[in-house]
Amino acid sequence: MARQNVPPLDLTRYDEELKREISRRVLEVFETGRFILGPANEDFEKAFAAEIGSAHAIGVSSGTDALLVSLMALRIGDGDEVITTPFTFFASAGVAARLCARPVFVDIEPDTFGMEPDRLEAAITPRTKAIQPVHLYGQCAEMTPILEIGKRRGVPVVEDACQAVGASYGGRQAGTMGRMGAFSFYPTKNLGGAGDAGAVVTDDEETARLLRSLRLHGETTRYHHSRVGGNFRMDALQAAVLAAKLPRLKAWNERRRAIAARYGELLGAAEREGKVALPKEAAGRRHVYHQYVVRVANRDAVREKLSAAGVGTSVFYPVPLHLQECFRELGHREGAFPVAEKAAKEVLALPIFAEMRDDEVESVAEALVEAVA
Ligand SMILES: *Cc1c(COP(=O)(O)O)cnc(C)c1O
Repeated sequence: MARQNVPPLDLTRYDEELKREISRRVLEVFETGRFILGPANEDFEKAFAAEIGSAHAIGVSSGTDALLVSLMALRIGDGDEVITTPFTFFASAGVAARLCARPVFVDIEPDTFGMEPDRLEAAITPRTKAIQPVHLYGQCAEMTPILEIGKRRGVPVVEDACQAVGASYGGRQAGTMGRMGAFSFYPTKNLGGAGDAGAVVTDDEETARLLRSLRLHGETTRYHHSRVGGNFRMDALQAAVLAAKLPRLKAWNERRRAIAARYGELLGAAEREGKVALPKEAAGRRHVYHQYVVRVANRDAVREKLSAAGVGTSVFYPVPLHLQECFRELGHREGAFPVAEKAAKEVLALPIFAEMRDDEVESVAEALVEAVA
């Protein structure tokens, strides 16, 4: 069989039925003329809350703003501390810094890339106002001990579920275990909009009310502001696109899991020979493979070989957050979070997207086996 060129992902593979459903809902928004917080937003919020199994979903402008407004709802500000991991997308720590709070890092577990619960308690101080674990690549962090520590120490948990829509942990959905869960609908995420969008879910009525107010500049009634919020609204056009796509989410995540299983079969021998480490799905956790991330020792060389073979890969993330220039004043040196630092040198994300074909999966695996030989 001829080897294919395979992109890291392809956002143009929409089938005709989905395109029709998106067009219908987008046109409906034009017909109602309600482009901001209209019926399309309400429909999507209801459907998303039901899908996730949460009492409330609040649509917002991005995953970053979902995290930011969650921390604002906890009244986090100057001098406070927010615990997260150093091996994640920048926003996970950036939001705390934007509120003049200090991001405090806890190293990750090597197999799941989630927060290491054994290191969490030592990072808690009287200033800790939130614990913000990240469900990286589509697999939940080890939530039972994280939630237990949060409860015992009186610190709320905000889940960064931006990469994990539809993932679960012991049967509980990502985003529903903490006080709030933040989701991103960035186009490349497992549920992607046609632009920027995000959502916060919560079971707490009072928190939901506060989030709805904060996304509207802290308005309580029109032009009366009880708090300073921001413009964190989701566009109605994004809500329309997302509502059209939401019924497909389960099948798309299943397809991602099937691709991951196929990679596992095709790359199993290379793993047994110690040439590559494949992603591990921990017991009781349902991974939705936002990314399929392998580890290889000579990552950059392997990546070049794959590129020469026509296979597009990505590195999430090459620089851990504690070593970012903007966080220099936190005073971390290389060696502070060794598990994250090692991951940053070894991880390589293979192509994975729901519309990927079996022959493409095979081409990628074949190219990787050759590249690590
Ligand atoms: C994508 C992502 C975000 C931010 O989402 P945006 O919609 O891009 O603002 C935050 N955290 C993690 C872990 C993400 O992957």
